[in-house]
Amino acid sequence: MVKIHTLTLGFANALLVQAQGIILVDTGIRVSQDKYRAAFVELGIHMEDIQLIVITHGHADHFGHAADLQEWTGAPVMCHRLAVKALAGGEQAPVVPRNALGERALKLLRPNLPLLARPVQPDLVMDEAAFDLHPYGIPGEIIATPGHTDCSLSLLLDSGEAIVGDILVPSPFSGEPCLAYFATNEQALLASMKRLLQQAHTFYGGHGGPFTKDEVLKLL
Ligand SMILES: [Zn+2]
Repeated sequence: MVKIHTLTLGFANALLVQAQGIILVDTGIRVSQDKYRAAFVELGIHMEDIQLIVITHGHADHFGHAADLQEWTGAPVMCHRLAVKALAGGEQAPVVPRNALGERALKLLRPNLPLLARPVQPDLVMDEAAFDLHPYGIPGEIIATPGHTDCSLSLLLDSGEAIVGDILVPSPFSGEPCLAYFATNEQALLASMKRLLQQAHTFYGGHGGPFTKDEVLKLL
């Protein structure tokens, strides 16, 4: 039985995936250590129990506290090979509007940009087609799902749940689910979403969700 806990940490969420093992997906940004500790205490989880920290992509609101959590938990940080430059440099991968909504959202976000994070050296880098999570006590795998960024990853759990980073996001204006309005490669984004839809029915994002398969199908 796998449980997914959403940690609402402000601008971006982190997710805890708990089965036999516990892994953390993304880290939020501008979150105090006290807030983190309180979130873990509420779930009855010790930071030292976390076995892996997965970063879905190289945007700073997702890896902002990766260096801190690496220290606090002792767990390895894992990302896609193409995210290493962003993480190790503390600077984020490009944010490219895909449509009019993306242009409007970027204007809204601009006063908060650039988002800078403490640089972090990843311990594990995904270079293959998939990364098996069973050794970490989680029934599932990580697959490359490029499009929002070149370095985007998703977790695909055997339960049919998926954690997809920013591939699915709520509109900052209406709250409605949207396919990423920022994308470096729109075709790749669509292909990644279709692949995920073939294997999952529930989708957790870095800023909202979960979204159902029916909600997502309406977006394509
Ligand atoms: Zn992003």
